[in-house]
Amino acid sequence: MIQIQVHEPGGPENMKLVETHLPTPGAGQALVRVEAAGVNYIDVYFRTGLYPSERPILLGMEAAGQVTAVGDGVTAVEPGDRVAYAMARGSYASYAVVPAANLVKIPETITSQTAAAAMLQGMTAHYLTMSTFPIKPGHKALVHAAAGGAGLLIVQMAKSLGAHVIGTVSTEEKAAKAKAAGCDDVILYTREDFVAATKKLVGAVDVVYDSVGATTFLKGFDVLKPRGMMVLFGQSSGPVAPFDPQLLQAKGSVFVTRPSLGHYIADPADLKWRAGDVLDQVASGRLEIQIDRTFPLEDAPLAHRALESRATSGKLLLIP
Ligand code: NDP
Repeated sequence: MIQIQVHEPGGPENMKLVETHLPTPGAGQALVRVEAAGVNYIDVYFRTGLYPSERPILLGMEAAGQVTAVGDGVTAVEPGDRVAYAMARGSYASYAVVPAANLVKIPETITSQTAAAAMLQGMTAHYLTMSTFPIKPGHKALVHAAAGGAGLLIVQMAKSLGAHVIGTVSTEEKAAKAKAAGCDDVILYTREDFVAATKKLVGAVDVVYDSVGATTFLKGFDVLKPRGMMVLFGQSSGPVAPFDPQLLQAKGSVFVTRPSLGHYIADPADLKWRAGDVLDQVASGRLEIQIDRTFPLEDAPLAHRALESRATSGKLLLIP
C-alpha cells in the first residue's frame, strides 16, 4: 500500500509518498480501501507540528472507500461495505485501519468522493449550528471564511435553520460562492473593515463562527450582541493570542468557546445522528457539497499549498 508520511514537521515538501506493508485490523477495527481522502486544515496543523503527533506523522482525518477486512468483535460493518469516516488519522493512503465505531455506511445514491467531502466539514457545520450555538429563526450569524470548505456548509445549515447569515471572504469569486450558498450579505474582509460593515448591515450579531483566528478573533467581539457567543473553531490565519477574560464582560457579558468535532461525536449516538443527518441532507439535495479540486495522492503537497494560499473554495480530495 502507499501512504503519505511526514518525518519532520515543516512545509508541504516534507510530505513523502512511501510504500509500506498492508496492516491487519485489530479488535474493533476495520481495514478500508480508500477511494477518496478529504483534505482539511487540521492536516496542515499536524504537518507543521502545531498539533503534536508521534513520528512518522500520518496525515488525513477523513475518507470514503470499501471495507476489505474487519478485526475481532466488529459486527456493524463487513467486507464489501461502502463506508465513510472522519476523525481517524492516516487517510492520506491507499488503505487505512479505522476504528469500526467511526464508520458510517454510505447511501447508494452518494458517490464515495461526495461522501469523503461531506464527513468532517459537514459534521462540523452540524454541531456548530445545532449544538454549540443552536441557530433559531431570526438569529443573525457572522461566518468568517464563508466560501471555505467548512464555511460553505455552515452558511447552508445556518440559513436552513432560519438565520440571517453574513459571510466574510477575500475575493469577488468567493463572494459569489458564499452568496450562492445562502449568505444574505457578504463582506470582503480583505478590502473593508468587517466590524464597520457588519454594524452597517445588521447592527450586531448573535453568534460569530470564526475559523480564521489571529486576524479576526478580537475584532469579532465588537459585532456581538450582549450575551452573544464567539465560537472560535479554527486558526487558518494563525493561533489567537492569550486574552484577559475581563474582556468578555466589557464586550457585553459575551461567551467564548473553542470547540472541536471530536468532542461532539465522542458519543456513538451523536456520531450516528450527525453523520446520518449530513448524508441525508446531501442525498436529498438540501446540502450541496462543493468539490473544488481532486489531486492524485502523490500531489498532496500541491493540495496543501493550494489550501494554505487561500486559493480554494470548498473541498479538496486526494485520490490514491
Ligand atoms: P478552508 O477551506 O476554510 O480554508 C481556509 C480559509 O481560511 C481560506 O480559504 C481563507 O478564506 C481563510 N483564511 C483567512 N486568512 C487566512 C490565512 N492567513 N491563510 C490561509 N487561509 C486564510 O479550510 P477548512 O474548511 O478545512 O477549515 C477551516 C478552519 O476550520 C480551519 O482553521 C480548521 O482547522 C477549522 N476546523 C475546525 C474544526 C473543529 O471542530 N474545531 C473542524 C473543521 C475545521 P478567504 O480567502 O475567504 O479569507
